[in-house]
Amino acid sequence: MALVVQKYGGTSVGDPERIRAVAEHIARTRAAGNDVVVVVSAMGKFTDELIRMADEVSPTRPPRELDMLLTSGERISMALVCMALAALGVDSASFTGSQAGIITDTDHTRAKILEMRPDRIREALDDGLVPVVAGFQGVSTERDITTLGRGGSDVTAVALAAALKADVCEIYTDVTGVFSADPRVVSTARRLPKVSFDEMMEIAATGGRVLMLRSVEFARRHGVPLHVRSSFTWEPGTWIVEEDPTMEEAVVSAITDDTSEAKVTVGGVPDRPGIAAHLFRQLAEHGVNVDMIVQNTGANGMTDISFTVAKTDLDAARTVCQEVKEAIGATEVTTDDAVGRVSIVGAGMKSSPGVTALMFETLSEHGINIEMISTSSIRISCVVRADRVADAVRHLHTAFGLDAA
Ligand code: ASP
Ligand code: MG
Repeated sequence: MALVVQKYGGTSVGDPERIRAVAEHIARTRAAGNDVVVVVSAMGKFTDELIRMADEVSPTRPPRELDMLLTSGERISMALVCMALAALGVDSASFTGSQAGIITDTDHTRAKILEMRPDRIREALDDGLVPVVAGFQGVSTERDITTLGRGGSDVTAVALAAALKADVCEIYTDVTGVFSADPRVVSTARRLPKVSFDEMMEIAATGGRVLMLRSVEFARRHGVPLHVRSSFTWEPGTWIVEEDPTMEEAVVSAITDDTSEAKVTVGGVPDRPGIAAHLFRQLAEHGVNVDMIVQNTGANGMTDISFTVAKTDLDAARTVCQEVKEAIGATEVTTDDAVGRVSIVGAGMKSSPGVTALMFETLSEHGINIEMISTSSIRISCVVRADRVADAVRHLHTAFGLDAA
């Protein structure tokens, strides 16, 4: 008998019919002899609606109250799922994050889990119930209700799976798994049956929208196998597991795209120690998360520093750079939000020369100019014009042999 944690995202519990379909699947999983713990998201786009409501009421959103408001979405889902289970004769009980023993820090709207005390969940399982837990929330060390950041129900599911030593954490969503590229961009994209944690982290970090990055990190750290699959077709999806050393890895598994970032260039800065340190310290202190960084080779003692930030951080980044411009002796600050990033990800590229060359050749053959480059041992990313990103993804998908046969 296995212990299965099943997480259902917003679209999976989007309306009453979907909630009944989910309850039936939970019942089926139980009938097959498994113990099941369920984690639910808020129905459909309900979290966004709650945020809109807050905006309509007040120009400020005290973080403690915003968290209290947003956690209500998941509470609706959990109670409705339990009612649908009752109709099928399956005994269940709903639990808020707090009741499930999810203890977080006090950082409202993006709290981190400090400790898991899922005693009540264990007791419910021992009593033969299906515990249904509200995702995305916990209780802080100050006993206030917190949320784990947008998309945080994935984290709830993985944390529970780790704490309960579940055999698998199933993430149910509206797509059938993780694809070799976004199927809306590349019609020939294929579902990947299996990817390693490392690959999935790179995919999630560079634009793959299926899983929240933090949940993948968490799963890797605790060795929780993830299975991303569809709650519409129920077919087997993508397994995210520890790298299997006996398997031959694909050189490139996936091509990702991301147009959520903008580029900032600080021009004409003196090429000496301490300049970059000062600039990035100031950015950090203003809560700006920097992603890619490129510093050009200096000429005449001067250089340019370019970096990317989330578009939502662009105003803050521009302000900081303008402020430090004089202190660091820079001549200009320019920003550009018409950029996008295309990345190739694959565990096999570690041992295959020529991957970088093929990527650059493919882009150049199609007249796509590379503006910035960054790499990890299993990823290469290029910043290009935003309006060429889709072309770049399609051509790279073909060049690396990923098009479906
Ligand atoms: N309902 C929350 C959100 O929309 C959490 C989640 O769906 O995972 O961000
Ligand atoms: Mg969601």
